[in-house]
Amino acid sequence: MAEVVVENFIGGKFLSTEKYLDSYDPSTGVVWAKIPDSSELEVDQAVQAARQAFPGWSRTSVEERSRLMQHLADILESQQEEFAQAESRDQGKPVSLATRIDIPRMIYNFRFFSTVILHSTNSSTYLDKAEAINYTTTAPIGVAGLISPWNLPLYLLTFKIAPCIAFGNTCVCKPSEMTSVTAWMLSKAVVQAGIPPGVINVVFGVGPRAGQALVQHPHVPLISFTGGTATAQHIIKTSAPHCKKLSLELGGKNPSVVFDDADFENCVKTCVRSSFTNQGEICLCTSRIFVQDTIFQKFVDRFVQETRKLKVGAPKESDTNMGALISKEHLHKVKGYVAIAVQDGGLLLCGEGKESLDLKKENENGYFMRPTVIINVPDDSRSMQEEIFGPVTCINSFKSEEEAVQRANNVKFGLAACLWTSDVSRAHRVGHKLEAGTVWTNCWLVRDLNMPFGGTKSSGIGREGAKYSKEFYTEEKTICIKI
Ligand code: NDP
Repeated sequence: MAEVVVENFIGGKFLSTEKYLDSYDPSTGVVWAKIPDSSELEVDQAVQAARQAFPGWSRTSVEERSRLMQHLADILESQQEEFAQAESRDQGKPVSLATRIDIPRMIYNFRFFSTVILHSTNSSTYLDKAEAINYTTTAPIGVAGLISPWNLPLYLLTFKIAPCIAFGNTCVCKPSEMTSVTAWMLSKAVVQAGIPPGVINVVFGVGPRAGQALVQHPHVPLISFTGGTATAQHIIKTSAPHCKKLSLELGGKNPSVVFDDADFENCVKTCVRSSFTNQGEICLCTSRIFVQDTIFQKFVDRFVQETRKLKVGAPKESDTNMGALISKEHLHKVKGYVAIAVQDGGLLLCGEGKESLDLKKENENGYFMRPTVIINVPDDSRSMQEEIFGPVTCINSFKSEEEAVQRANNVKFGLAACLWTSDVSRAHRVGHKLEAGTVWTNCWLVRDLNMPFGGTKSSGIGREGAKYSKEFYTEEKTICIKI
């Protein structure tokens, strides 16, 4: 018997559907929620509600939009504990992690974009020879389709909703069917905050049905999608007949390049964190570490020592470092990559296949896996080329700076990279050469929402962040006046 029955949120109303899907608690393997299995019908209802709300919302003053979003953030702040618990039940992550990262960021997304719009300006030029003035105006576009994945459910969904509504659009959201409960809770807070009906609509269901209906809907001119590269390719194709504006935040195969002059202890501890936070299920997690040969063995020994300290187990316990992976199928896939790495010649040092799990009875059917470290995997192995999206890190050595850059770039992805060195010139030089949307030097996951965020190569199209989100969620027009 499910503990929660989720409803669609359309035009300010909570509506049931004919069919429901099971949503599992990854830490127990037991169904804990029922999710609407929405079809084109529900998606169309939501789009109509968003279309109706658009004229009023787009004409609402920025001060009022900002005030409502701040009020929503206040309400979410007062419910942080409930959100953190639900996020953990939905996704398998430790409650402590949801409390520290996911939930504060959800609140911050609304606070940040509600103030960005208060300070937003447009540009102008004066052409003295032609005696003309040019200036630009911006206007919201309409109904946005916002499609988000399961790994950071609220963090990522609200990174779309907040700029979308701040700039005057309305939206239909489709969260991953595996992590829908918190988006339903968010919908309740939206009602409490007094955000007008239809501005935010949430339709639950599976990607190929509900998500696809949104992608192909003729009255949804823009789609912001975060998820896998293969899904994005399908979205590009199927949205093409409508020439939709697309923002695509996709997968990664992020390298960390470690030089022997790095602050060693900080580097090892941060690389362990960047590899295994959220069970390695963050698009920005490190999955390939290249270490200068002079410190390779020392690095590997300390890395394995630190990794072995991570406690894998019940997400609700405060000393748990890693919870469960999202699903049985995903666990199987991640373990498969460990087997491939070993088959291809890698040496397994700890984790899957080396040490057993120590779980409580209630978690024995959960989707847990120990953090796994493998060294000397050939660069052309599938486990070094494809996104694993789990707690598996491969460590290899390099001799020269040139070699490190070439091997770090030798994948189809380009989302993020880390660089560890105390040489300032090298930091600038290598940072510039690494093919990634974000290069963190001597740190990881330090985010400033003013800066552009997104991927290069197969990791995405477009950028998110203050002015970049404005470019996506509004249309700019040039007005030229002869004087
Ligand atoms: P998917 O691509 O499988 O799914 C993402 C979302 O798209 C889900 O809501 C999914 O629904 C939906 N979807 C699936 N098929 C379609 C379709 N045909 N049309 C419309 N929507 C569809 O990714 P995952 O959920 O498995 O997420 C993991 C991926 O996300 C990883 O590759 C990861 O790197 C990437 N990611 C990228 C980030 C970035 O900022 N660059 C951040 C976080 C994750 P459903 O789940 O119901 O099928």
